[in-house]
Amino acid sequence: MRIAMVSEHASPLAALGGVDAGGQNVHVAALSTGLARRGHDVRVYTRRDDPDLPQRVELAPGVEVVHVDAGPAGHVPKDDMLPFMPALAAGMAADWLEWEPDVVHSHFWMSGVAALDAAGRLAAPPPLVHTFHALGVVKRRHQGADDTSPAEREWLEPDVGRRVAGVVATCSDEAFELKKLGVPPRNISVIPCGVDLDHFSPGGEREQRRRRHRVLSVGRLVPRKGVGTVIEAIAEVAAEGFDVELVVVGGGAAGPRGADPEVDRLERIAALAGVADRVELRGQVPQSDLPDVYRSADVVVCAPWYEPFGIVPLEAMACGVPVVASSVGGLIDSVVDGGTGRHVPPRDVAAVAAAIRGLLLDDQLRRQLGENGRRRMTRRYAWSRIAADTERTYLATIAEARGTTTQSSHDPGAIRRTRGATR
Ligand code: UDP
Repeated sequence: MRIAMVSEHASPLAALGGVDAGGQNVHVAALSTGLARRGHDVRVYTRRDDPDLPQRVELAPGVEVVHVDAGPAGHVPKDDMLPFMPALAAGMAADWLEWEPDVVHSHFWMSGVAALDAAGRLAAPPPLVHTFHALGVVKRRHQGADDTSPAEREWLEPDVGRRVAGVVATCSDEAFELKKLGVPPRNISVIPCGVDLDHFSPGGEREQRRRRHRVLSVGRLVPRKGVGTVIEAIAEVAAEGFDVELVVVGGGAAGPRGADPEVDRLERIAALAGVADRVELRGQVPQSDLPDVYRSADVVVCAPWYEPFGIVPLEAMACGVPVVASSVGGLIDSVVDGGTGRHVPPRDVAAVAAAIRGLLLDDQLRRQLGENGRRRMTRRYAWSRIAADTERTYLATIAEARGTTTQSSHDPGAIRRTRGATR
């Protein structure tokens, strides 16, 4: 198949851990590479955010990233990007006219808007599959007035869900939300994100600790990730005599005041809780260096208020480290309470502290949960499996758009004749 991925703000080439670069970038890069390994041609369309970027860059054999001129060739916060979607659509439509993709898979609501627009410009539009990665309705529920999404998201996002031929949700919780938004359940498949099991593995170097126990948090530094809760929980654990440190990976490093407001806020929380000397705000760490850091931890804590999916817990489990996770969104499916870690209610410092304490006290339990986590990742979350499941969804969507049944084997000749449509 010729597969067009659309990822307007999240380039698979971006450095990870900044405010707008996280799981979506990883997902698009790994899924595209996995599909190319299965013999497909993949093009990933993203907005040009640097004037020096070549128009086309090979990400991996069979995967090309196409930088489309749409708005200023510099950083634009994702919540300010909507006005540039028509230009992204025009650039993609021009390329599709010649390249004729068999299927388009857009990521995040704005890419869906652009993909629908681009397809609508073609006489024979390819079928569209969409993954939301995050839903505005959930974001607003948790962030209220702090949500900086454009007002149009409220109606454009459900519109994308209703008009595309298929929606790939990454967890069952998202599938419920999509149903409430009016997405026909029969169009929804649930396929989780995956993890690179060769890169994230239990064997290998581990970073030196400064104290007896280490707790780790990894992710973009935005308030909803709940790192403040983890810092306060560490203070409770330390107050009970545990020689424990917390390493926080992601976002800006601690530095001059005002450089990153979230860093300042977290430093203040640590100082108020009396654990400034136990908390290290390390800043962004490249994925190549992350396994040593995961392996150095007794426990990885993911305490978000909400989480559309959450790749970090998969990486921790793949490294054989137990996870304390809020029981929200994708973490409900991925982390097994008592199996690969512990579930805690969101924003509950005492519950996070109790879960950490229980794990630090029991070496045997940590080892067992870590081993279970690795096994769970190997059995269910390899990117090769996620790519194969996604390929099946594409084939079913294409077949349905053509008015035939799902193909059990790949027949590129048949697909080339397919010219589906959006719904
Ligand atoms: N990440 C990274 N370096 C950092 C911070 C994060 O490589 O400094 C990566 C992390 O390993 C994971 C991704 O960014 O692969 C975050 O994805 P997740 O789904 O957990 O959260 P999101 O950022 O999508 O909210």
